[in-house]
Amino acid sequence: MKLNTAAMRYLSNDDFRVLTATEMGSKNHEIVPTTLIVQIAGLRGGAGVGNCISELAKANLIARVKNAKYDGYRLTYGGYDYLAIKAFSNRRTVYSVGNQIGVGKESDIFVVANEKGRKCVLKIHRLGRISFRSVKNNRDYLRNRQSASWMYLSRLAAQKEFAFMKALYENGFSVPEPIDYSRHCIIMSLIPGFPMRQLSSHEDPSALYSSLMSFIVRLANHGLIHCDFNEFNIIILDEPKSEDEQFVVIDFPQCVSIDHVDAERYFKRDVDCIRRFFEKKLGYVSDDYPIFQRDAKRVASLDIDVQASGFSKKMVKEFEKAISESREKGEDSTDHEEIGEHNSDEEDEEEGGEEDDEEDDEGENEEGVDRDDEPEE
Ligand code: ADP
Ligand code: MG
Repeated sequence: MKLNTAAMRYLSNDDFRVLTATEMGSKNHEIVPTTLIVQIAGLRGGAGVGNCISELAKANLIARVKNAKYDGYRLTYGGYDYLAIKAFSNRRTVYSVGNQIGVGKESDIFVVANEKGRKCVLKIHRLGRISFRSVKNNRDYLRNRQSASWMYLSRLAAQKEFAFMKALYENGFSVPEPIDYSRHCIIMSLIPGFPMRQLSSHEDPSALYSSLMSFIVRLANHGLIHCDFNEFNIIILDEPKSEDEQFVVIDFPQCVSIDHVDAERYFKRDVDCIRRFFEKKLGYVSDDYPIFQRDAKRVASLDIDVQASGFSKKMVKEFEKAISESREKGEDSTDHEEIGEHNSDEEDEEEGGEEDDEEDDEGENEEGVDRDDEPEE
């Protein structure tokens, strides 16, 4: 999906206030009544707010919901992106947005820079995008849905990924440096390298194999299983720091605790993924590989630490329920495309259905209120 950065420049303070009001309203309303937007925005003079609303709708940051019982609006992907990037910009973690370097089934990845020119990665989580597409009848889906709204789930994914990346980074794991997060977006360091998938030969496959397996074991010793440990989520550094530091591991929203009921299976699947890749691509086979029962001994508890730091048990549960289907599928090998091959998700908003409201608010108020929900002047 395209990022509408142009709108950033010309939106007025009042427009921004109205956009923020729509976000706030959507915590309790699937479709935010226009009267509520006016009330939350707290702007004098109805005509002014009306102008703001039509500016925002023109920029596709909010969308009119036509078939509701009342007149109302919902925040679009574009509007949610805007609010997150505006928050980064206010905190000076992002100054400019550059090229898109990846589009996944459930994320968009961009290179961004801060004022000093440091390049970073912006990962925008987009849960719910595909499920909307694959569900033929949105109306049935909406009637039957349990709790999942794209806004809420995408935000949970970002929060979870940021929390785990931070814990891992602070414990010396080779992962990107987590820099900032807001809503459904995270900012992390840009890793200079390429996905392991592109590797067709290696001067010492056994050394790389061992350090990847050590990573899996050390992660488990800290209480965690990645659950998507494959050649797409391992970046080989252009300039390796040492034999043991040739790669960086990314993409954590699906990771689980070693106490998870299916932990052994997930652990084995991560291990098998690496074994398969090494055999197929690098012609390297080894009898030496980690086994859950023998090697996944707990020495630390990042799984529990992270829960304590804000990603609560309830959030874990809700999130797990929502992504269990995609975790069952395992590798994201088929859902990730590099930019250049195909890059058009612009119809997403339409597919979501202009007349349908994707917002849902269950749990929205209870947990994880964003740090930047207040309209900024
Ligand atoms: P998804 O959940 O959609 O698989 P990922 O976090 O795996 O998203 O990112 C998708 C792709 O974007 C990766 O395969 C990698 O090529 C690139 N990428 C993501 N994060 C970084 C980063 N920090 N540095 C460099 N490239 C990255
Ligand atoms: Mg990935």
